Amino acid sequence: MENKKELRSWLDAFGLNHPLVIAGPCSAETEEQVLKIAHQLKDSDATVLRAGIWKPRTRPGNFEGVGALGLKWLQKAKEETGMLITTEVANANHVDLALQHDVDILWIGARTTVSPFIVQEIAEALKGTDKTVLVKNPVNPDLALWLGAVERFYTANVKKLGVIHRGFSTYEKTRYRNNPEWQLPIDLQNRFPDLPLILDPSHIAGRRDIIFDLCQTALDLNYDGLMVETHFDPDNAWSDAAQQITPSTLIQFMDDLKIRKETGEAAEFKNKINTLRTQIDVIDHQLIEILGKRMKVADDIGSLKKVHNVAVLQTKRWNEILGKMILQGEEKNLSEEFILRVFKAVHQESINHQEKIINAN
Ligand code: PEP
Ligand code: MN
Repeated sequence: MENKKELRSWLDAFGLNHPLVIAGPCSAETEEQVLKIAHQLKDSDATVLRAGIWKPRTRPGNFEGVGALGLKWLQKAKEETGMLITTEVANANHVDLALQHDVDILWIGARTTVSPFIVQEIAEALKGTDKTVLVKNPVNPDLALWLGAVERFYTANVKKLGVIHRGFSTYEKTRYRNNPEWQLPIDLQNRFPDLPLILDPSHIAGRRDIIFDLCQTALDLNYDGLMVETHFDPDNAWSDAAQQITPSTLIQFMDDLKIRKETGEAAEFKNKINTLRTQIDVIDHQLIEILGKRMKVADDIGSLKKVHNVAVLQTKRWNEILGKMILQGEEKNLSEEFILRVFKAVHQESINHQEKIINAN
């Protein structure tokens, strides 16, 4: 795939002076629900109305979507409000139905992006159309798989493209429903700066209270847009109730978010430096997380040493660790002096932790 301005032509054509906003319910539930939400969003920053018609559920038994019937509701919402409409397609039949109902933007769900067979089937069904396709990241943190899906569309002559960052599945339960792993979209953005990048804070968060902060981080990282699940009665939504916000909360968020609007050389410099600083913040955050994890393992070793009555300081093992780290550091252009200083500090913290454990009654 070439990195060309054409990738973002569909977005530039909107001529927005704010990030693209895609909003609407997780699922279309009833005609009244779709229309009511659309009208509440009509005068907001939202350009595109979203609603899932076919819902991929990780486990059966949950609401699986109203099916093709819901496409008529979306079409009606488009007629009444002038908003564009988008839904998720997961096979060629979905594509045909969406095209018949004038869906403007099709999105590929996280569970679909993982399957090159299905992505290829969808890409072929879209050949020769003029539709915009937004590809959600795959459930697993695999940049090549994500890019591969985008490339399948590009090769099928679908040139209006974008990606949606919705976070990644982890076995370990964290504060997120899906871990953001910001480094992945940042890498993607560095490689394809013209490919529109949209944040889906709803599926990353899985809960309402951290959606605003996720949006701000994305805007600080220069994302092009937001896709936010929005419902007039979030608590009673038929799917993803905990993470939906009301249209009026979204309108408030758009007011409160700091959006970089200036253009020109000075603004460009400011923009670039802010993006890089936010990247540093993301990495620093990861450093603390990883140091915390390391310290937890050191604690477990401390408990084991206590049970077996072994001394805290094991000089031979420590020297081995240091030797390995110095070599690895060299590969990353980190000086021996720096590695020594960092790891001495890390080691000292581990010793302090373990002594505390051993001396506790
Ligand atoms: C959705 O957008 O409602 C959805 C199912 O998303 P994802 O594919 O990211 O899980
Ligand atoms: Mn959802």
